[in-house]
Amino acid sequence: MTTERDGARTGAGTVPGRVVVIGSLNVDSTSYVDAFPAPGETILARDFQVALGGKGANQAVAAHVAGAPVEFVACIGDDASGAYAQGALERLGLPIAPIRRIPDASTGVAQITVAASGENTIIVTGGANLALTPALVDAERDRVAAATVVLTQGELAVDTIEHLARVSNEVGVRFVLNLAPPAAVSAATLAVADPLVLNEHEARAVGVGTDAADGATLDGWRVLAASAAGGIARSVVVTLGAAGAVAADATGSWTAAAPRVTAVDTTGAGDGFTGTLAAFLAEGRPLPEALRIAVAAGSLAVQSRGTVDSYAPRAEVLAAAG
Ligand code: ADP
Repeated sequence: MTTERDGARTGAGTVPGRVVVIGSLNVDSTSYVDAFPAPGETILARDFQVALGGKGANQAVAAHVAGAPVEFVACIGDDASGAYAQGALERLGLPIAPIRRIPDASTGVAQITVAASGENTIIVTGGANLALTPALVDAERDRVAAATVVLTQGELAVDTIEHLARVSNEVGVRFVLNLAPPAAVSAATLAVADPLVLNEHEARAVGVGTDAADGATLDGWRVLAASAAGGIARSVVVTLGAAGAVAADATGSWTAAAPRVTAVDTTGAGDGFTGTLAAFLAEGRPLPEALRIAVAAGSLAVQSRGTVDSYAPRAEVLAAAG
């Protein structure tokens, strides 16, 4: 590809293949303990880790690592966690200009406790993420209009997701919706998703795969996705963990089996998959090809620890995709 794909402007604010992500940004603070404290009890943790998180941030990083010019529209608070998040994105090379600092708000935080048993408890404070409103989407209309793909997730408020879908459709930009968690958005919002990206649980929540027998195999899920594409959404992608993923649009339906690998940490694999899918769709790759590459990215992500740190660079993903 030419330097255009490296982000050089070609005029009128247009960057070929640009992915605009509007989504959550959290700082994940994880304490590793032997056992959870009882109410009123103070315990010592064995280890502690701080990392960038939030589905918006994870997917923006994944799309960036996949080689897309990415603009990440997010909100942080005026606090140390916000500064940490900006620093982390800067180190990864993501432009931080679209990120707003919200006065008197805390940066979104996930306080995670992981016990020796592997169980966890998570407290999420939305904080500045709550400033991702329909009004903010309106303020970002020009940025959305100049994108090739707009990507968001079910973590945003329902009215914000619905408004973003409407605006993307009005300006003719491809709207990719990862409905994780399965927010109760309108049928009109799902209808313009291209694709609607779901894991197995989310697929069942929106009515893809109500018949358990149909969804028992990769090919069974392909058939379910095919019947949902053109009905529930313009196109549908369902990720199926170690099995891989399926996709369908008006022209056909496809399976992409994941390679058999040793998974050491599946955290963020779905976000790695979705960010990669959006990046390659923005690049102009057909859905079945983007699907195959995203499955390769997901299977590489599960083979190393961390979330954004586990996303493999573009060349490695393409080599794995064959
Ligand atoms: P989520 O984390 O959102 O539930 P999935 O578990 O379906 O998403 O995983 C997303 C993608 O990551 C899968 O489609 C696959 O490509 C990859 N993946 C996940 N788990 C594994 C695994 N155990 N082995 C290989 N690939 C995996």
